[in-house]
Order: sequence, then structure tokens, then C-alpha cells
Amino acid sequence: MNTSTVNPFQSYLERLHKAATVLGLTASDEQRLATPDRVLEKDISITRDDGSTETMRAYRVQFNNARGPYKGGIRFHPAADLDEVKSLAAAMAIKCAVVDIPLGGGKGGVQFDPKTHSKQEVERVARAFVRAFANDLGRDKDVPAPDVYTNSEIMAWMVEEYEKATGTKDLAMITGKPLDKGGILGRDTATAQGGVYAMEYMTHVLDMAAKLRVAVQGFGNAGATMARILHADGHTIVGLSDSKGSIMSEKGFDPTHVQQIKESSDTIVDMYCKGMVCDEEKMERDGVTVGSNTDLLEVDCDVLVPAALDHQLTVENAPRIKAKLIIELANGPTTPEADALFFERGITVLPDVLANAGGVTVSYFEWLQNREERTWSAEEVQEKLKPIMTVATKSVWEKSQALQMPMRDAAFVLGVERIAKALTN
Ligand code: NAD
Repeated sequence: MNTSTVNPFQSYLERLHKAATVLGLTASDEQRLATPDRVLEKDISITRDDGSTETMRAYRVQFNNARGPYKGGIRFHPAADLDEVKSLAAAMAIKCAVVDIPLGGGKGGVQFDPKTHSKQEVERVARAFVRAFANDLGRDKDVPAPDVYTNSEIMAWMVEEYEKATGTKDLAMITGKPLDKGGILGRDTATAQGGVYAMEYMTHVLDMAAKLRVAVQGFGNAGATMARILHADGHTIVGLSDSKGSIMSEKGFDPTHVQQIKESSDTIVDMYCKGMVCDEEKMERDGVTVGSNTDLLEVDCDVLVPAALDHQLTVENAPRIKAKLIIELANGPTTPEADALFFERGITVLPDVLANAGGVTVSYFEWLQNREERTWSAEEVQEKLKPIMTVATKSVWEKSQALQMPMRDAAFVLGVERIAKALTN
């Protein structure tokens, strides 16, 4: 989670202020966008498997609903605190506005470590969270989703508990559900697929080659899927990493093969090394270098895709980044100082509020399909996702050119402009 000293909510306020200045917003409009509509905070208690009681802090921040119901995930993490949840809720409002879907921004969190709790205990936490906030959730009020250490199974428990607590049937009150419980086809690949559509637009306007050398940091849901799609599209995946290390090769990797290795071992590095012992012959044959997970960021490539943690691209490593285009699938991977350096160096950063918005866009489709009581096909999801991502990327790019500012600032200007307009309507 956030390991930097940068206060994430302070960063949001600074970006908001820049956007408000460009747009000439009044101080009271800026204040409205700087303040969450509601901060819900409660202690929730569960019985642990050994019979003891554990109490933990739970949050739901409803940041802004000027454009539609609050929307945003719930994370289970020991470091989830109010500042973090507030900044993520604000970012959700901006993200939904940038891709122009009729939803606002919210986020939730429970401060505990799911890794030290049994599955039954995690289920009790999920159900207790919903009971605590049931009156504030609902398809037209506030629609949560999975986030760090929460998943589709947890969403299924939550909707079930919500229906029990409120005595209503409302599959649309939460997204990211399993397919047999109202979930949508393509949600698993939506974030990466949205990033690919945005990247396609950018490589076109930046006049980059048709086939590119791409490095991806993080080999989880977002990163591994993006690597797989780009490889299938004919790009060369010159570097991959996970929490244990990285593998790099000019010849490229097949992410499907890497995924198979990852499934049967701890790390992708096991393809070439078992502990400290590396298969030098195999590495030479494949032209592979094995390194740390930070080495990956500095590999020679055209496109770098941070898809792991926040604050990975910093003032320290930014001068050595070789990519011409950075696609932020992760939330907050670039510090403000690194951002400024990239702008100076002519490196284009496709910001998180745009690059990873495919996820919330397909969540919006799930919300719609539940409201319409029908099931969308995988083709319908792709057909509707592509134009949304392409138009949003074009709008942000054109604004950044017109205002001569980085795409992140331009995305904020666009998002704030749309929310402020909805507030005055
Ligand atoms: P995940 O847990 O599936 O995968 C994370 C990956 O990052 C794992 O492979 C892990 O080994 C790797 N990792 C951890 N520390 C690392 C390090 N120091 N260096 C390199 N790799 C490291 O998570 P995910 O769902 O793929 O999400 C990744 C990022 O994308 C997060 O910032 C998340 O907020 C963002 N995001 C994801 C979605 C989504 O739909 N999955 C949507 C929006 C944003």
C-alpha cells in the first residue's frame, strides 16, 4: 500500500486546485469538490473461530454523487485508513466522470488483515460490513465492488446479506459478483482490455510503431491480462515482474507460458532460477536477464505498464526510465515529482483515472444488466467498452494539447469540469 510520505488525499486536493484554477471555479465550488458528501465510520465486531470477539474499524466514504450513485470498491487491508479511503473515493468520482459514465465516487475499507483470518472469519467481516451500512447502500444510492483483498465470492456474501437486512431483491446494489449471481462476462479482463484500447489510441496519435516492445510490472489480474492481450496483438513483451523479481529479454516472453509457470510455483523468476541457482544455459538461449522488481521499470522498452503497487515511479528512478509511453493500470504508481520529470522529458503518462477505468466501466455495465434483468454477451461488453475508452482517451489527449499540460492534469480538468457542471444542474 502507500509507502511514501505523500499524503494521498493532499495530492488529490493539489490536483483539484490546479484544475479548479484552469476552469475558474468559485472557491465554494472547489470546496464542494474537496469535501466528501458523507464519511461513514463504524466499529464492526465478529466472533473469531476460537470464540473470541474482534472489533475492527470500517469505513465507507461517499465522496460525490452529482453524476449518479456513489461507486467504488471495498478493501480489506490493515493499512486501510480514512485518508486512503477518502482519496480513493475522490479518484473514483474523477474516474467515472472522465469516462463519462453516470456514476459518482465512493470507496470502503475494513482495517484488518484477511491473511491472518480464516475464510469463515472473512465472510463474517463482509456480512458485518453490509449490516453496518445497509441503509446507505443500494442500486440508486451507493454501489460497492471488489478492491484489494476482496473478490467476487465476497461480493456474493455481501449482496445476500444486503437482501436479508433490507428485505429487498437488489442484485444491482453491488458489482463484481460471480457470473452465476448476476456478474458480467468480461469483468476479469476489463481493466486490462480498457488499458489496451487507450494504448491503441495513444500509440496512434504519438505516431509510434505498429508493433512495440512492452514491459509490464506486476503479474496479477491487471498486468498478466494486459501482457496476454498485447502479446496476442503481436507486440513483444520484453519484461515482466512480480513481487519476487523480474525477467527481461529483447526476444520477448509468451505470457500464457509464464502464467503456467506462475501457477505451479511462487514466482515468474522460477522460469530461470530456483532460489539462488539459475539455469545459465537456458537464460543465454532465451537472451534473458533476471533482476529485481525495480530493474524491470528501467528496462529498454517503448511502453511501460505499471500494474502492481502505488509509488513505483519516483524522482529517484524517473531519470532512468526508457519508455516513451507509460500506461498506469495500477492506481497511483507515479509520484508527483516523477510526473513532473516525465513531462519535462517528453514521456507521456496515461494516468490511472483514465488507463484503468475499463474496470469501473464494465462494473457500470453489470449494474445496468442487473437493472435491466438481462445478461449481456461478451461481445456486447467489448463493443460498448471500446468506444468509451477511445473517446475518453481522445478527450483527455486533446485537452492536454490545448492546455499544454500532462494528461493527468488534463484528465482532472475534464473530470472536475463534468462534476462541477452536474452540481450546478
Ligand atoms: P493482483 O493482486 O491480482 O496483482 C498484483 C501483482 O503485483 C501480483 O502479481 C504481485 O506479485 C505483483 N507485485 C506486488 N508487489 C510488486 C512489486 N514490488 N513489483 C512488481 N510486482 C509486484 O492485483 P490487480 O487486480 O492486478 O491490481 C493491480 C493494480 O491495478 C492495483 O494498483 C489495483 O488497484 C489496480 N487496478 C486493478 C483493477 C482490476 O480490475 N483488477 C482495476 C483498477 C485498478
